[in-house]
Amino acid sequence: MLKSLLALAATAAVAATPAPSAAPPSEALAKLQAYMRLDTTNPPGHEAAAAHLLASWLQAEGITPTLYESAPGRFNLVARLKGSGKRAPLLLLNHMDVVPVETKRWQHPPFAAMIADGALYGRGALDMKDLGIMQLLAFLDLKRSHAALTRDVVFCATADEEAGGQLGAAWMLAHHPEDVRASEVLSEGGSGVVLPEGTRVMNVECAEKGVLWVKLVANGMPGHGSIEGKEGAVRRLVHALARLDAAPRPFELGPEAHSLFKTFARTAKGERGKLLKAALVSGGLARVGARLATLDPYLGAQVRDSLNPTMLEAGQKVNVLPGTATAQVDIRLLPGHDPARMLAWVRQVVADRQVVVSSTLATPGSRSATTGPLWDALVAAVRADAPGVAITSSMSPGASDSRFFRAAGAKAFGFSPFFAPLSQYEGFHGDNEHILLNQLDQGTRTMTRAVALAATR
Ligand SMILES: [Zn+2]
Repeated sequence: MLKSLLALAATAAVAATPAPSAAPPSEALAKLQAYMRLDTTNPPGHEAAAAHLLASWLQAEGITPTLYESAPGRFNLVARLKGSGKRAPLLLLNHMDVVPVETKRWQHPPFAAMIADGALYGRGALDMKDLGIMQLLAFLDLKRSHAALTRDVVFCATADEEAGGQLGAAWMLAHHPEDVRASEVLSEGGSGVVLPEGTRVMNVECAEKGVLWVKLVANGMPGHGSIEGKEGAVRRLVHALARLDAAPRPFELGPEAHSLFKTFARTAKGERGKLLKAALVSGGLARVGARLATLDPYLGAQVRDSLNPTMLEAGQKVNVLPGTATAQVDIRLLPGHDPARMLAWVRQVVADRQVVVSSTLATPGSRSATTGPLWDALVAAVRADAPGVAITSSMSPGASDSRFFRAAGAKAFGFSPFFAPLSQYEGFHGDNEHILLNQLDQGTRTMTRAVALAATR
C-alpha cells in the first residue's frame, strides 16, 4: 500500500513539475489537471474532494460557495454572483462525477491527468470536468472583470449525474429550489464536431429523449427439456420480443432533427447525403427513415423512439423448462411522446396475457425553444470565435441533469464550445478520453465570451 502511495506521489510530482523550457500551463489546464486527478467515479461518486477543491478556488477569489451534502460523502456546490435583477438568474450547471473506467484498456492512467502529444488524458476530460472548468473560469472572469451583471449568475457543480442525478440536480431542486432557481441553464450534451470532410458544426443541445424501461415477465409450464414445451416461458418471451422488434415505429422529424439533417445534408455525400435530402422533403422521412436508421443509427435515433432489449434472465439448468423468463427493454422516447402511451403500445404488441409488462422507469423527454438571451449569446459567441461554422440545435438520445431544470420551467442548453472529430468523442464513457490542449483553451475563451454575453445583456 505504502509503495503504491509513494509511486502515486512520485507520478504526481513529475506531472506537476513542468520541464524548464516549457511555457507555464494555462489556468484552465492547471485547474483541469488538479480536478481530474480526483477520482469521482460513480458509483460510488466521492464528490467531496472535488467539491472542496472547487470551493477553495472560489474562496481564493473572494466568492463564498455553499456546499450541500445530499448523502454521506456526496456533495453539491453552489456559488452566486449578484446581478441587477433585470433578468432571472443564469445557471452554469456541471457534474463532478464520472463514469467507471476499464484501466487496462487505457494508454495512460485514467486519473493521472497526463499530457501526451498535445492532449490531456483522463476520465472526465470530455464528460464533463472540462466543461466544469470552462464554466468556472467564465464565472471567475465575471468577478475579476467587475462585469455589470443584468442577472445573478449561479455556478452549480452537482453530484450523481452519471447515476441518475437523484443525489445531485434532482436533490438540489427538491431541497433547495431557491438556490438553483434560474430561467436559463447552461449544461452539457452539446458538441462541436469536425465532420469527416472537414466541415465544422456546432451542435447546441436543446432537447433530450425520454426514458421508458420496460420489464417483461413471461410465465409458462415448467417441465422436462426433452419434451417440447410450446407454452414454455422462454418461448413466450422470445416471441414477445420478436413481435416488439418487428412492430413498426413511426418516424418523426422534430425541430432538432430538422436542423441537424439540414446542416448534414449540405455536405454529406453518397447514399447518406441522398437519404438526408429525401428525409427533409415533406413525407420523405416515412419513405427513407428505415434505411437511414440502418445506415446511421445515431441519425435514426433522432427521428424515432428507440427500443433495445438489454437484459435476459431465465432457467437454472439446460434440461429444465423454467416457469418464468424475464427481459428488460430500454426504450427512448422523442420529446412530446408520452411514456404511458408507449407502455400501452408495448402491451398491445406483446398481446400475451402470460407475459406481464411493467415499467421500472418512465421519464418524458424534454425540449427548450431556441430563443432568449442565452441562446442568442451562444450563437453570437460561436460566430465570433468560429466564423462561418454552422450552428444546429440538437437532441441528445441520452438524458442529463438538464431534464430536471426543463421540468422546473427553465430553458436548458448543452454547450461544448470546441471542435473535435467524431473519433475523439468515442472517449465519452469509453477508453482514452482526452481533450487537446488547444481545444481546452479555445473552449474556455468561447465559454467565457458566451457567459459574459448572456449575463450582461
Ligand atoms: Zn456528463
